[in-house]
Amino acid sequence: MRDIDIDFIITSDRSMMSDHHGREFIGFVATGPPIFLPEFIWTYLCCPKPKVDRFGRPREAPYGLRKIEASLLESGFKASIIDPDYVPKYLSKAKAVLIGHHDFFAYGPPSSEWWLITGKVPVNRRLFTKFMNKLASYKKKYGFKIVVGGPAAWQWRWEDDKIDLWGVDTVVEGEADLVVKKLAQKVLDNEPLPKYIQVGAQDSPKVDQIPVIKGASVNGLVEIMRGCPRGCSFCSVTLRSLRCIPLEVIEREIKVNRASGVKSGILHSEDVLLYGANGVIPSEEPLRKLHEIAVRRLEGIAWAHVSLAAVVVAERQGRILTKITDTIYSKLNQDYIGVEVGIETGSPKLAEKIMPGKSAPFPPSRYPEIVEEAFSIMHELRIVPAATFILNLPGETPDDVVKTIELTERLRSYRSIIVPMIFVPLGRLRGERDIIAKVRLTREHVEAMKIALDHSLIWGERIMREFYLKGREALILRLLLKYFMKIVRWKASSVYRKLESFTEKELVIPKL
Ligand code: SF4
Repeated sequence: MRDIDIDFIITSDRSMMSDHHGREFIGFVATGPPIFLPEFIWTYLCCPKPKVDRFGRPREAPYGLRKIEASLLESGFKASIIDPDYVPKYLSKAKAVLIGHHDFFAYGPPSSEWWLITGKVPVNRRLFTKFMNKLASYKKKYGFKIVVGGPAAWQWRWEDDKIDLWGVDTVVEGEADLVVKKLAQKVLDNEPLPKYIQVGAQDSPKVDQIPVIKGASVNGLVEIMRGCPRGCSFCSVTLRSLRCIPLEVIEREIKVNRASGVKSGILHSEDVLLYGANGVIPSEEPLRKLHEIAVRRLEGIAWAHVSLAAVVVAERQGRILTKITDTIYSKLNQDYIGVEVGIETGSPKLAEKIMPGKSAPFPPSRYPEIVEEAFSIMHELRIVPAATFILNLPGETPDDVVKTIELTERLRSYRSIIVPMIFVPLGRLRGERDIIAKVRLTREHVEAMKIALDHSLIWGERIMREFYLKGREALILRLLLKYFMKIVRWKASSVYRKLESFTEKELVIPKL
């Protein structure tokens, strides 16, 4: 059987190249180390191999890689996404391997927290390291170029020794839709490549320059917006300009997914409810039109993210959320919607300092009550949030954490998962081996973690049974996750003891 002719292989390691059993949320399990279970079971749990064709092209691939593939194909380059297991087949003839990732070295949240707490290297880092070690040995033999990019490109600045070790030619930070074409041409012309490229807002593609994906994305994800207007100080999304993808483009991408047999879709935006909004005020008509297209074309819908303030405004203002969920539940065989939300803090004072726009149009002083109201609305409408709050944010005081604890307690009766994240300010490299992270974990932090874990274990089992992993086809996965949750529950007290002993310590993250 002949292989296809590819100059540019677009790929990633197994933690990215997977459909996560059709449930995006399960992909997060790869951010943890393989504890309690052998690594291969852990890997199967979070990132099973996807279906591929006879050339090793996955049926579904990460959306960011699909965009790069589309950019190159539209400009006439010979490019294709290839599953990591099939990459070696093409390396003798390839001109370059382009690798995208959400968390190359596991420094993003929540990988770095798990790593810090357990002292064990997360699965995503293990898989990426294995993949790159192998790729580097092929590079010595065949001499192709390696270009890396994606939302976690900043992490290469913390591991720049790996750039030489693995022979990485270029790191691209920022939106690469346009820049990748120039890079590809340089590769073909044998011109030297720049080591770093930083794509600023002014170099980001305009809406009509963003290409339409050519193959299906993992779990049918389609982008409906880029950027976010809220301007939180700890978030890089905010640096990107705000762009709404036109409805006809969204529909075309949904059709691409459907043509490959992907029946459900995830509408991706940092705040789905701000699609076509007037600033931070949700607008009924664009949201209605967006969901009409989605229910017409899809058999199931999830939202990537919504902001809690937008949930409240959308419902107070003409019950927009009730109308949208009614449309979804009445037209599709679906009785809930999954979504990620960021609480970040329960402290109005801290909210004012680090994320004054998060509660807009309400003032930060009212943020906790807005969060509560949003959770109550979502509970009523069977919107199931996976929520996060962040501990150890810059400028945080013990009182701020107490406010977060109190808010989490008040959320107890609302169906949700709440995951604490620790803001990890990464320090200098020590002797080329380790990364130093100074994390001041206080009693209040540990208490906040306990309360969030209790909340999530109680609701997690119910959500899994009643919504997320219903039915016989999800039985094995349900049993494995149930087993995992039982062990977490059983081990929880020793984990807390360990956390308390971390208090006020400088922690060292050992590199693999
Ligand atoms: S609301 Fe979310 S996406 Fe927007 S700036 Fe804040 S943290 Fe970032």
